[in-house]
Amino acid sequence: MSVMRKLLLAGSTNAWLRERAVKAAFVRRSVSRFMPGERLEDALRAAAAEQQQGVHAILTHLGENLARVEEAEEVTQHYLEVLDKVAAQKLDAQISVKPTQLGLDHDPELCQRNQDRLIARAEKLGNFVWIDMESSVYVDRTLQLYKRSRAKSDKVGVAIQAYLYRTEKDVEELLKLGAAIRLVKGAYLEPPDVAYPKKSDVDENFYKLACRLLSQDARRPGALLHIATHDQTLVDRLLRHIAEHDVPKSAYEFAMLFGIQRGLQRRLVADGRRLRVLISYGEYWFPWYMRRLAERPANVLFVMKNLFG
Ligand SMILES: Cc1cc2nc3c(=O)[nH]c(=O)nc-3n(C[C@H](O)[C@H](O)[C@H](O)COP(=O)(O)OP(=O)(O)OC[C@H]3O[C@@H](n4cnc5c(N)ncnc54)[C@H](O)[C@@H]3O)c2cc1C
Repeated sequence: MSVMRKLLLAGSTNAWLRERAVKAAFVRRSVSRFMPGERLEDALRAAAAEQQQGVHAILTHLGENLARVEEAEEVTQHYLEVLDKVAAQKLDAQISVKPTQLGLDHDPELCQRNQDRLIARAEKLGNFVWIDMESSVYVDRTLQLYKRSRAKSDKVGVAIQAYLYRTEKDVEELLKLGAAIRLVKGAYLEPPDVAYPKKSDVDENFYKLACRLLSQDARRPGALLHIATHDQTLVDRLLRHIAEHDVPKSAYEFAMLFGIQRGLQRRLVADGRRLRVLISYGEYWFPWYMRRLAERPANVLFVMKNLFG
């Protein structure tokens, strides 16, 4: 892992840095590239604009690790309101939630209930809930939450991370359930006994896992693969695999972050592929923003350019 990536990921959890950086105009200018605004209305407007371009959306309210358990209710209420507004505005916009925001650290049963409330509302409105995957200490608990919800509804999917050694085994279990899976490379700072330290190994594992999840064996009711990457080489490799193995379009969608690799996004849509962009909003954007910087050193140059005008 590059020194730059390590520094940025370490900085993402630094409270001192966060307090100062969020006030700096040049940081706020550069974050606007990845985030249409801090308010839900900004995200809904962006989702409507994307929809006009044939791109569907996933909305996520930024925030991590709650200080008080009561905040989990506020977050749940917020997402219930998002689902209602999406339905009222006739948008094709799903939601994506972090279990720690729903109370996982404080009370796992409460977290499960909150998650199920969101899924029940999504089911009623014809929508869908994604569960984000956070750092590796949460993987077992997150998969447990997912499995319990999946037993009741197929309107729920979960993210899994190709950088973790364990994911290959998790995929085999999830596959049996007819799971909707968002496959990502993984965005957190993980030790080498847990995650592949070399990017080329992560990329290869992503390809291998995606092929497994696109296989005939994986096509069960409720199954769907979100190929969530901006990696053009990987996308093209998987498109070749899809063509060679006649994978039906109903088996997968592409997913990217709002504002990233727009050229690739346009190409996929023009080619008739289904694409969703994940639109983030909210005031607590600093750790998320630092993870985006860590993904691409060129983004740091972009911040520097903003600093100088
Ligand atoms: C829809 C979606 C949901 C996600 N959910 C989760 C989750 O639940 N848990 C989790 O751990 N991670 C999540 N991630 C983040 C993911 O783990 C990666 O950190 C992120 O997608 C970058 O990896 P990559 O696959 O795009 O490939 P990379 O190899 O990092 O990037 C490939 C190329 O894409 C471009 N690119 C990538 N990132 C950026 C960027 N920030 N700015 C500009 N260009 C960029 C660059 O051209 C780069 O060379 C999610 C990502 C997406 C797209």
